[in-house]
Parts: sequence; structure tokens; C-alpha cells
Amino acid sequence: MQPKDMNGKELAHKIKENLQHRIDAFNEENGFSPKLAIVYVGEDPAAATYIKSKQKTCKKMKIETELFHFPAATSLEDLRVELKKLNSDRSIHGIIIELPLPAHIPFFEAVAEIDPEKDVDGLHPANLGWLFAGNPFYIPNTPMAVMKLIEEYKIDLKGKEVVIIGRSLAVGKPLIALMISKNATVTVCHTKTKDLSYHCLRADIIVVAAGKAHLLKGDMVKEGAVVIDVGINVTDEGLMGDVDYNDVYPKASLITPVPGGVGPITVTMIIENTLEAAILQAGKKHLPSNILSLSGNNSGNNG
Ligand code: NAD
Repeated sequence: MQPKDMNGKELAHKIKENLQHRIDAFNEENGFSPKLAIVYVGEDPAAATYIKSKQKTCKKMKIETELFHFPAATSLEDLRVELKKLNSDRSIHGIIIELPLPAHIPFFEAVAEIDPEKDVDGLHPANLGWLFAGNPFYIPNTPMAVMKLIEEYKIDLKGKEVVIIGRSLAVGKPLIALMISKNATVTVCHTKTKDLSYHCLRADIIVVAAGKAHLLKGDMVKEGAVVIDVGINVTDEGLMGDVDYNDVYPKASLITPVPGGVGPITVTMIIENTLEAAILQAGKKHLPSNILSLSGNNSGNNG
């Protein structure tokens, strides 16, 4: 029997190897490294852990990072001022805002302040607009990580029923555009969806990004479905995905474990976008290359 696990660690390793050659070449040619600014407001323990892990991976791959940590009471206006400073700092090529932000700062308003050329998370309204127009600039990291797994495991999305659970700006919404660009038929479920099982049971591919530990059970999944778990939930029993892995495993044809599925690829996507941002800002080229790899599907085609 074929192994069912989609191995994100292995794929991330492969992507990193390729990326490292490109980073080394960039650093040698330009005499400096791509630099990522990480903007973090408040004191969320999970966010602090993710930041450390991003910084560690960036350092290993010779991407510079700088953390800009602001108190939880920082106002949207003050944050905007700080982001403007980062926009005009020519030594910084990429800017990401770590989530969650304190409740009084709407993410959409904060991210809109980032220069779209430095928005390596791809979540600026202009970049989301380009993505939905079928002509993406920077592709959001987590949705792109999902697509990389799909590509690696040669899953043909054409005409397939894809159910995405979660409609967040960072994951669920950009995934709609990416899945459509590969000719899938997409259904998006969320907290107000009446019958989640009904939708999931007809899905060929289910992507879960709800932030609810073990939300997806075996009896909600069609025999042979592909199940991709984006969720990371810190619980008393340890780190858990949104998929009840043991329960779903017998039904799935392919499934991502947590940890070791989508997560390891996400950070490589941030690094890739930061490299592309540095190349772009060094005036070497007009469009990031991972963008080009997605085109040629339905770009500009509404049919
Ligand atoms: P979010 O809280 O912004 O959005 C969650 C979405 O899930 C919402 O749209 C909501 O409507 C939907 N939802 C919640 N409960 C539901 C339910 N019971 N039924 C149907 N829909 C439901 O979260 P997010 O930022 O999109 O993150 C989702 C999960 O993915 C979290 O666990 C987060 O930690 C994880 N995450 C992982 C990575 C990674 O690299 N693997 C990256 C980003 C986020």
C-alpha cells in the first residue's frame, strides 16, 4: 500500500536546497542579504515561538531578519507610522506582520500600510487583488504551501470538488483564488455553514484552516479524499491539527500530519518571497518567479 502521509518536512527540505543556491548567488552578486522585517505587536506566546522559529530558519539560509516588537497598547496610527519607516528603509526588502494583532488593530488596515513591493505575505489589498485577477504578485505563504504539497503529490485539481474550511484573509480566501486557478470547483465553509459534514462528504480534497482542534472526523470524509490540515492548535494534550488524524487516516488517500505537514513549507515560502522582493528591489526583474510558476492556468481566463 502507498504511504498516505504528505511529508511537508521532506518537501520543505527540497525547496530549501533549491532556494539556498539562489540566495547564495544573490548575496554574492549584491554583497548583501535579503532582509525581512518582522513586526510583532503585543505578547502572544504562540506568536513569539513562531517568530523565533522563522528567525532561526532565515539565519540558517542567510536571510537577515530584524524584529520590530511594539507594546500591546500601540495604536493603529502609531503602527502605521512605524510601517511607513520600514517602507522607506532601503535595507529592508520584506515586511510581515505577525498574527494575532491586539483586538483594537484590524489586520487589514495595518497590512494596507505596507508597500505592496515589500508585502512578502501577499496580504496587502493590492496583492490580493492581483491574485484574484489571476495575475498574482506575491502569493500568501500558507495557501502557497498548500499548493506546493498538491503539486508535489501530483494531485490534479481540474474539475475536482475542493472544500476549504475557514475563510480568513491569510488562508481560506487566498486559497479560493489559487484553487480556481487550477480549475477546481471550490466550496468555502465557515462558522455559519449549516451542515459542514454535507459539504465535506462530497469533497475530493478538503483543506482545513479553522483553528479548531480535531474538527474534521472520519465520518465527515469521503473514501479516498485528500485531506490537508493547516491547523495548529496548542492544547493541554500538545500540538494538534484541525483534523482528527487517526480517525480520518483510514478514509483518506493522502493526508498531512501535524506537525510535519503544511507548517514547514510555510516558512520556506516567506523566505522565497523575501528573496524575490530583494531581487525586485535590486532592479533585477519585474515579477517574482513563484508567481510565474502559477500562471498559464486560467490567468485572464474567466471561462
Ligand atoms: P482564523 O481564526 O482567522 O480563521 C478561522 C476560520 O475558520 C474562520 O473563517 C471561521 O469561520 C472558520 N471556522 C472556525 N471554526 C469553525 C467551525 N467549527 N466550522 C467551520 N468553520 C469554522 O484562523 P487562520 O489564521 O485562518 O488560521 C487557521 C488555523 O491555521 C489556525 O489553527 C492557525 O494556527 C493555523 N495556521 C497554520 C499555518 C501553518 O503554517 N501551518 C499558518 C497560518 C495559520
